[in-house]
Amino acid sequence: MDTAKGCSIVEGATMFSKRSLIPQTQTFYDDERPRNRAYILSALGFLLVLALTIKLAFVLNAREGDISGELLNTNAYVANCRTGANQLIQSATSGSDALWNKLADFTDTIGPRLSGSVGLENGIDWVEARMKQDGLENVHREPVQIPAWRRGNEWAILTTPLRNKTLSILGLGLSVGTGGAAISGDVFVVSSFDELESNCSRANGKVVVFNAEWISYGTTVAYRSRGAAAAAKCGGIAALVRSVTPYSLYTPHTGMMSYRDGVKKIPTASVTVEDALMMSRMQSRGTPMSVQLYMEANGDSIPEVTSYNVMGEITGSQYPNEVIVMGGHIDSWDVGEGAMDDGGGLFVSWEAVRLMKVLNLRPKRTVRVVAFVNEEDGARGGQAYRDAHVNETTIIAIESDIGITSPKGLNVTGTDETMNILSKIGQLLTSIDTDTILPGDGGTDVDYLSKDGANIAGLNVDYSKYFYWHHTNADTMDKLDPKDLGKSAATMAVYSYCIADLDKALPRNPKDISML
Ligand SMILES: [Zn+2]
Repeated sequence: MDTAKGCSIVEGATMFSKRSLIPQTQTFYDDERPRNRAYILSALGFLLVLALTIKLAFVLNAREGDISGELLNTNAYVANCRTGANQLIQSATSGSDALWNKLADFTDTIGPRLSGSVGLENGIDWVEARMKQDGLENVHREPVQIPAWRRGNEWAILTTPLRNKTLSILGLGLSVGTGGAAISGDVFVVSSFDELESNCSRANGKVVVFNAEWISYGTTVAYRSRGAAAAAKCGGIAALVRSVTPYSLYTPHTGMMSYRDGVKKIPTASVTVEDALMMSRMQSRGTPMSVQLYMEANGDSIPEVTSYNVMGEITGSQYPNEVIVMGGHIDSWDVGEGAMDDGGGLFVSWEAVRLMKVLNLRPKRTVRVVAFVNEEDGARGGQAYRDAHVNETTIIAIESDIGITSPKGLNVTGTDETMNILSKIGQLLTSIDTDTILPGDGGTDVDYLSKDGANIAGLNVDYSKYFYWHHTNADTMDKLDPKDLGKSAATMAVYSYCIADLDKALPRNPKDISML
């Protein structure tokens, strides 16, 4: 520190002395030259200053033109809705505690809402009744055939080596059971599909444990989805899959899996990160391991039952058949309370429409909130909604299904003009920092509507912790911040209201729907 400081002082002194010499030299030079040389220099200087002044004026003028053009351009899209947008932001943010309490009442009273369960049907009744109480218009339900998978009782014990250690498991959605009795097998741990393939014969007759490290949800979830089929191909009798999460407090995470045609259906469950790592260590030490597994899951014969999408709206004043769809899914897994996944997403969409009604803001087009059913283990609700509404024009469908933490704006699959217009509307949301429009996916339920040309969007949030409690017993109300709920509701409200009230409809038919 001291050495560097000393150097800078010396440099400064040198520079100062150099600068001080320049005026002295110039004064001396001018005095020694003929006077006409001074006039020429003065004239050149004048011309230079004049040219710079003209150039500067031109630049400033052009810039002013750009700025006013930009403002005019933005005003063209938000003039109709600016006042309403400000009211929506004010009401949504000041009402965030009430919204949190409403969702807490729902999740605490109704609990988990697995497809085909009494809990789900209670939840649908609750939402339909409250939408009517809220004064939403055209509140109704539409039938959807859904699978009624059940996990029943389930347990797993590591019986070898010395101690009997209970493993905390959650059967994976749509898995088969163990046929009415426990099955036993030696354990074979792999960290990847490649490792399994290279050692396929070693998996024969074994309980295969996939200890795949978290990379991202989109990448690592492949082991949950396809692990059972891969293990069965090598003769495995069951598959235990390390929970798909970046962080664990000994919490197993469930989620949907799928079998492959022509491959034996074997039972499959998630284990905790901690137990997967322990079994991996034991295998590395050469310790033999055996597991007993019991699952009553009904994946070999899943009944179909009738359930419902529920929806309500504010009907458009000029173009009621042109619809802005917003929503989340009402079903959840059978663990936790489905507070974040996806109670939060559904309730912020619902709040957006409710506030338009309360504030007497009726846009030109219809804004509808949809509580989609069966997103988790079938996505039948999204398909059924699309099939039932082919005679309408869905302008944009916006889903919130990756949590509601620190919303930033929307991820959008739309035309270039759509992106541009949404960015202009976003300028109304700078006060709550949710003005970011990025290319991206919508959500499982709304993606079906892209087939008919709808723009698709998803609420863009900070989901860095979302997968800590995703599909676990820990998906409960305490994970949601009231302020985040309020900001998310405001964001959904402003974008949907302003889109619905545009003079000219948002252009449809996005070219690139490959990411959906
Ligand atoms: Zn979800």
